[in-house]
Amino acid sequence: MTPLLEVDNLHREYRLRRAPWRRDETVHALAGVSFALHAARTVGVVGESGCGKTTLARLLALIEAPSAGHLRLDGVPIALHDRDALRRARPRVQMVFQNPYASLNPRQRVGDALAEPLRLFGRGSAAERRDAACAMLQRVGLDAAHATRFPHMFSGGQRQRIAIARALMLRPALVIADEPASALDVSVRAQVLNLLQELGDAFGIAYVFISHDLDVVRHVADELLVMYLGRCVESGAAQQVLDAPLHPYTRALIAATPRLHRDAARRVLDGEPPSPLQPPAGCAFHPRCPHAQSRCRAERPVLRPLAGQLVACHRAEDIARGVLG
Ligand code: SF4
Repeated sequence: MTPLLEVDNLHREYRLRRAPWRRDETVHALAGVSFALHAARTVGVVGESGCGKTTLARLLALIEAPSAGHLRLDGVPIALHDRDALRRARPRVQMVFQNPYASLNPRQRVGDALAEPLRLFGRGSAAERRDAACAMLQRVGLDAAHATRFPHMFSGGQRQRIAIARALMLRPALVIADEPASALDVSVRAQVLNLLQELGDAFGIAYVFISHDLDVVRHVADELLVMYLGRCVESGAAQQVLDAPLHPYTRALIAATPRLHRDAARRVLDGEPPSPLQPPAGCAFHPRCPHAQSRCRAERPVLRPLAGQLVACHRAEDIARGVLG
């Protein structure tokens, strides 16, 4: 079956303009990420800040173009320079941002904000769009009468419900959710995550779920992609990766997540990720890795299959055999 989304060797570079007497520099925010996602499935993308997951989200949401690599939706390549192709693809892919207040126009009534995507894509009459907005408000647990209110009149959790409702107005096949619950109170976080799952099931939506929180991802993701400094270092079925991680970075992330961490002896992640302006030679994780050897400092490990997962580590076999603590 053709995957809904195919991500093939995606790169994104940014040029940093320096003072006239200094050379410009290039940041490799994304350095060759590939994966496939089938309809109605959820892939969780995890990693510390600066690992490239938000850049990946922006590329997948068609907000910006990759420097190299390809995206395919339903097997059809998306050419970001082709306006007609983009216009066809955009309703199929929507994004939910971390901060719902920033993603809603404070001067626009909620009903108008929800009807706007339908208007932009020429769907329905004004009355039909209004009715669809009210119905979607009710679908996300709000009242149809809320359509006349402004975003500041809602709580954070309600605003995220409105942002989700807006993202679903065009009935997308794919939603990119970038830390959709992390700006919310703990008390409403679970409600918003449950709502996303419930709507995903009801409408057959596939999610790319970006998060720094493995505990959250464990609840929502079918597949997991672990990123470090712009690259995927481990991927596979979410439960399998979380139960039997093969990469020291994944193991350290799990160790830093109290509710997932069952091995008290496992080493917690030390230090900060290196600057993407000057990534370390060899394995980018080697300055922080407790198992680094001379080979790790010289040769970058490629992502390869092992025990039903993909992992980029020279010592993954040792980890799989339990030789390394
Ligand atoms: Fe650690 Fe070496 Fe594996 Fe990198 S390749 S994660 S440094 S053991």
